[in-house]
Amino acid sequence: MISFQESIKLLTILTLVLLGIGIFVTPALAQEGKQQEPGAFIYTVQPGDTLAAIALRYNRNLFDIALANNLSNFDLIFPGQRLTLPNISAQIAATPQGDGRTHIVRPGDTLFSIANIYGVSPEAIVGVNRLVNPDFLQVGQTLKIPGGPQTEPEKLPTPFASVELSEPTIIQGRTLIIWVKLAAAATLSGDFDNRPILFNDGGNGQFWGITAIPALAEPKIYPLKLTANLVDGSQVTVLRNVNVIEGPYGVESIQVDEQREELLDPEIVQVEQAKLDYLWSQISPRPLWQGSFHYPMPPDTLRLTSYFGTRRSYNGGEIASFHAGTDFGGDVGVPIYAPAAGKVVLAEKLMVRGNAVVIDHGLGLFSGYWHQNQLAVVVDQEVKPGDLIGFIGDTGLVTGPHLHWEVRLNGIAIEPLQWVQQMIP
Ligand SMILES: [Zn+2]
Repeated sequence: MISFQESIKLLTILTLVLLGIGIFVTPALAQEGKQQEPGAFIYTVQPGDTLAAIALRYNRNLFDIALANNLSNFDLIFPGQRLTLPNISAQIAATPQGDGRTHIVRPGDTLFSIANIYGVSPEAIVGVNRLVNPDFLQVGQTLKIPGGPQTEPEKLPTPFASVELSEPTIIQGRTLIIWVKLAAAATLSGDFDNRPILFNDGGNGQFWGITAIPALAEPKIYPLKLTANLVDGSQVTVLRNVNVIEGPYGVESIQVDEQREELLDPEIVQVEQAKLDYLWSQISPRPLWQGSFHYPMPPDTLRLTSYFGTRRSYNGGEIASFHAGTDFGGDVGVPIYAPAAGKVVLAEKLMVRGNAVVIDHGLGLFSGYWHQNQLAVVVDQEVKPGDLIGFIGDTGLVTGPHLHWEVRLNGIAIEPLQWVQQMIP
């Protein structure tokens, strides 16, 4: 039910929209004087915007935006409307934007506005950050600014020639890329937060590796340890600090009714989880993918319904879990494609995840596709980007047809959309 006052407001808005008038009373203005939560900001709707696109761009929960703006109908937004975007990580808001060499993406930033701040070209930012999809910048993502003030070249112990991190300050849930050059014959090993990193040896002393920042990692500085193992048996170690900050993830409270809870036999859930945990632990030593990922569905059917990283509290309890993938809504039968090259390591019906496919992309990287109607691949099949793997369905524990797309690195769930946005490595 909406109040009389609200219905008048709605009527006024509708009338003005119909008349093509661009100035109106908006929910955001009506809230003036109300205490805003720290970091919340006002976004002005642009022509062509949808609420889902705004939520995606600013990494917010669609429902949080609707709630904060008293929107009962998601389609009822219009150019010029001012929307409150809630829930920005206080840490992102408090982190200095950078020293001219890096920039932490804030809500409202675009590639062009960032280029403008530093007086560089948008193309140059795209280039140094290996972006392939610059329309989607993640709030909290650290971008390198080309041509910024240079620091003294750091003295690294021999045989280290260079060490580069994709994001020395990084939000929870992202993938960190590490590039290392060694000036002598040696192998490279390393660990992040005491988890080993598998490096790809590109020859000529060039190495790269990737490591996952868990979505619920405690925000703090973590050590990254890199060790060159020389042919004479000696070792040289370099340490780097990685500043993990809180991601701008929303919180959703899920009410689980008792009947449904009973459907979830803990033993079934655990057996299924153990099966997947075993799969993620079987590491192919070489990367099978190349460059950035594609979306797993035809671009014209993409409808993002639930975001990676959203914290979940059950029945009003503490935040104990998070959404481990990205959900795309769609009709039963919409095709699902491999987003990158790899080998199918699971293609079968699971109790919770329904008809499921897991692709091994090598170097500890896997992707999963749950709740499918029908599978189009078999175990051990090699896939290329764009190969059909199955169709959208509503199998397993779901409330409606959708694709849950999950990307795992060494068993840790990471933001799948980063892999679409950026070339990795
Ligand atoms: Zn999901």
